[in-house]
Amino acid sequence: MKILICDKLNPNVSNELNKIGNCLDISESDNKSSDLLKEISNAEIIVIRSGTTLTSDILEHAKELKIIARCGVGVDNIDLSYAKNNNILVTNSPAANLISVVELTVALIINASRKITLADQHVKSSDWNRSKFLGIELYGKTLGIIGFGKAGKLVSERMKAFGMSIVFYDPFISDWEGPEQSLELDQLLKVSDVVSVHVVKTKETENLLSKEKLNLLKESAILVNTSRGGVIDEKYLVEMLKNNKLFGAGLDVFEAEPPLNVSEFHEINLVTTPHIGASTAEAQLKAGIDTVENIKKILSGDLTVAL
Ligand code: NAD
Repeated sequence: MKILICDKLNPNVSNELNKIGNCLDISESDNKSSDLLKEISNAEIIVIRSGTTLTSDILEHAKELKIIARCGVGVDNIDLSYAKNNNILVTNSPAANLISVVELTVALIINASRKITLADQHVKSSDWNRSKFLGIELYGKTLGIIGFGKAGKLVSERMKAFGMSIVFYDPFISDWEGPEQSLELDQLLKVSDVVSVHVVKTKETENLLSKEKLNLLKESAILVNTSRGGVIDEKYLVEMLKNNKLFGAGLDVFEAEPPLNVSEFHEINLVTTPHIGASTAEAQLKAGIDTVENIKKILSGDLTVAL
């Protein structure tokens, strides 16, 4: 059985996959796109992380594919309806990356609140003008969470320890009984000092934070997105930061990755990271172990792990 590995995996995970079938790893190929088209044709299992997109144009080349195993949570890089119509099972590891992305979110919030990236660049440029770096405290402030799922709830738990009160917007949660307050989106944007976005990417969440919605934010607010690109009007966000219409922002995910307007990012309180929410040794190992287990389960006829 041929297993095509398209993105870099923990070596222990690759070893386990080798016990299941014959692995071909194209993750470090210089011609990954053409190798993918060629090698997918007789692969029965394909293992991807977020670095590979499986469109219908690519999947049409797969003649023997039975399983797409996403080592991680997001499956927006897979044409799910093509897979379904062609009896290709898709499986993912929804919880493995959680702690890592949540911790990165906390890091981006703290970084933006104290302008740490700008201050770091300042010191390393042999400058010492402390008055440029007046930050804001998180204590006693309101954190608004958009998308109160697994990641959103864990961010809430961590930021409560900073003395923040939590409000959230999630149209799919109607019976919440915890201390966090459910608000409509506009209200959340108006009252929050920090807004953190944790939605899944769907048609409804695409451009959820449009120019019109971003204009509802306080000028003193911080906006962080570690969920998916395309949820925020990034161009307008940068404009707001340039014109002091927002205190700061943190982005791990972008509409285009890498982002196209990087030259605009300098000297504003925008902390950026290259989609590294899941990039910790622990998360990658956990996702890899889940992926191997999911493949084994499907091969043994247990389809409960298929989406
Ligand atoms: P989850 O499914 O547990 O939570 C998502 C929440 O969004 C759900 O509660 C859902 O009800 C809510 N939601 C759906 N549509 C909404 C809408 N229109 N408005 C508001 N809320 C809406 O997912 P999760 O595990 O918490 O992950 C959250 C996001 O983080 C996902 O997009 C995932 O892909 C992303 N993620 C990113 C990284 C990274 O590397 N940066 C790593 C892991 C996860």
